[in-house]
Amino acid sequence: MTDPAPARHFIQQIIDADIASGKWGTPGDRTVVTTRFPPEPNGYLHIGHAKSVCLNSGLAKEFGGRFYLRFDDTNPAKEEQEFVDSICADVEWLGGEWHGPVRFASDYFPQMYEWAVELIQKGLAYVDEQPHDKIREQRGSLTEPGTPSPYRDRPIEESLAQFEKMKSGGFPDGGAVLRAKIDMASPNMNLRDPVMYRVINKPHHRTGSTWHIYPMYDWAHGLEDSIEGITHSLCTLEFENHRPLYDWFINAINQDRGPGSKFGEKIHHSQQIEFSRYNLEYTTMSKRFLKLLVDEKHVEGWDDPRMITVAGLRRRGYTREAIRNAVIEAGITKYNALTDFTKLENALRDDLNTRAPRRMGVLDPVKLVITNWGDHGDPSRLEELPAINNPEDESAGTRPVKFGRELWIERDDFMIDPPKKFFRLGPGREVRLRYAYWVTCTDFDTDADGRVTEIRCTYDPQTRGGDAPPPDADGNVRKVKGTLHWVSAADCIDATVRLFDRLFTEPRPGKRTGEILDDLNPDSLKTLTGCKLERSILKPTPDEPAWPDGIRRFQLERLGYFCFDKASTPDNPILNRSVTLKDSWAKEAAKS
Ligand code: ATP
Ligand code: MG
Repeated sequence: MTDPAPARHFIQQIIDADIASGKWGTPGDRTVVTTRFPPEPNGYLHIGHAKSVCLNSGLAKEFGGRFYLRFDDTNPAKEEQEFVDSICADVEWLGGEWHGPVRFASDYFPQMYEWAVELIQKGLAYVDEQPHDKIREQRGSLTEPGTPSPYRDRPIEESLAQFEKMKSGGFPDGGAVLRAKIDMASPNMNLRDPVMYRVINKPHHRTGSTWHIYPMYDWAHGLEDSIEGITHSLCTLEFENHRPLYDWFINAINQDRGPGSKFGEKIHHSQQIEFSRYNLEYTTMSKRFLKLLVDEKHVEGWDDPRMITVAGLRRRGYTREAIRNAVIEAGITKYNALTDFTKLENALRDDLNTRAPRRMGVLDPVKLVITNWGDHGDPSRLEELPAINNPEDESAGTRPVKFGRELWIERDDFMIDPPKKFFRLGPGREVRLRYAYWVTCTDFDTDADGRVTEIRCTYDPQTRGGDAPPPDADGNVRKVKGTLHWVSAADCIDATVRLFDRLFTEPRPGKRTGEILDDLNPDSLKTLTGCKLERSILKPTPDEPAWPDGIRRFQLERLGYFCFDKASTPDNPILNRSVTLKDSWAKEAAKS
């Protein structure tokens, strides 16, 4: 039986209907679906932004349309080139292929200014010279209508002159604003003569000191969409009650426009559609707060692998496929929800399970010596045994791993006095060493503190490859319960391995005390040195997939998925654990 086609989400349904009705043109016309991702360059992208990138670019791809990358650089105060560069890199990494050049809202400032002048000329906008506080006071409340400004009905000529003065630096910051003349009694507060422009006497990272006025989001956004011919302008739910304003501005420009009008033809009117934000447990999507974590050095930077920035997740070893699946599967809906952190981790496990080559490594090594190794040949010999590269992908084949007299195993795979259910190694117990032999512990050493320093075993040459030995004379078959990973002491490398836990201890950081930093997890990073990895991991081998971002990812058997950190070198290998194999965290949390 084949799976039924997945239900199409509401935005796909809107587009299906638009195509059926020919709303934006005829199918096959590339402008039938034109979407954009409009970030403000004031921080790095986080996984919430990734949802917007994947949704917008995915729809353009699905419908054979176009996807644009547009910087909403309308605020000169907080924007920096570093953010423009990182955002471009992240959108590209996410697979959001934008059409044409990177676009900047600031390129449209002259056009926006002309349209603002047009609104003044039509009596639909005016310059208000009251102080900011006064204007806010007059806005009224949800239960009280607002109070009209004394400047509301000033002559059009006066507003035109004052607007020109605002533009050319004739007012101090906050000295005047341009407001739309809509309805001071509107039940929708956004329509109570909203501000379109404010005076900011500050140079802009792209337009220099050309402008002394900067447009507000609500005024600017729909115009940007219009100029670019965006068909479906997707934004998050909090803009739902801004939509009437979005439409009002375009309608105001289009008023008295048309064939033969002195103002010109009507302009393109995009459709704003709101969808639910991606919110994730144990973290925050607040850019301001992510910046604080960086500035106050609670993390090592925007791309710290514990951050839910796209750069951080990438450095952690997340694949774009995992991110894309996680954010889209969280739902394109009209309801905000908090996503379980495990869902994000499972998306990565699912992806890497099929693709990541398996290797062996030991994080907390203790020496294991095979005392009868010399009884069956040269005691210094290393035997090559085939290890499976990926049980999920037969074509990945096997690689030789070297087995010899001295090995490293995981310290917690051995107990001096193990309980019955401990299916690993202890005095007198037998276990399988993966892909190699069965070994039985005969003896061990400890230091003055009782810490195990060396484990001694014998091996059974009949178990080569990890297979069970033939039955004994009475027909009894020997069995082992445990299989351990190991690396050969003579054929391994030392590495630093970084293990991460959640950055916050609470699902909703800050909810407990009102202070988000109170919920920072002090143990979110554990750095292990002297870890032992099989030597083959150093150089790429033919079984490794061609990761498009060049980040090499592996499963270390029994330990999780790992990737090489960007600071890793052949002389100083550094691995980041991307995710454990199972959701050990949920189990721990349930216990405590
Ligand atoms: P701010 O505007 O406060 O700086 P922002 O997170 O909205 O923060 P923008 O740069 O304006 O940042 O966002 C760019 C785009 O990403 C917008 O279209 C916005 O709706 C979308 N976006 C932001 N956060 C999320 C989220 N958590 N889930 C889905 N989309 C998001
Ligand atoms: Mg925003």
